[in-house]
Amino acid sequence: MNPPHAVSIHEGEPLAVYSCPICFSPPSYAAMTPCGHLLCGECLFTAVKTTIQRGAYTLPPGERMIARCPMCEAPIPGWDGKGGGVIGLRPRAVFSL
Ligand SMILES: [Zn+2]
Ligand SMILES: [Zn+2]
Repeated sequence: MNPPHAVSIHEGEPLAVYSCPICFSPPSYAAMTPCGHLLCGECLFTAVKTTIQRGAYTLPPGERMIARCPMCEAPIPGWDGKGGGVIGLRPRAVFSL
């Protein structure tokens, strides 16, 4: 009947200790924006899509909405809604809403 050992925290895995600023959990399918913000792929896609959809109503016709980082609003060139323009997304982590 020994007391259980203290649980040692798993170290050396930066993603495990990093919290996504949107859902506050360790990012799954982490994606990094060109400006260096790290979020879950899902959170990033949802946030950018929401921003684009919201912006589509306020933009003058013909103007193309630019994807922006949800954290600092830096533009994400090359955003195509399928993982383009961000770093670290796996090809199969495509989220369609
Ligand atoms: Zn998240
Ligand atoms: Zn950013």
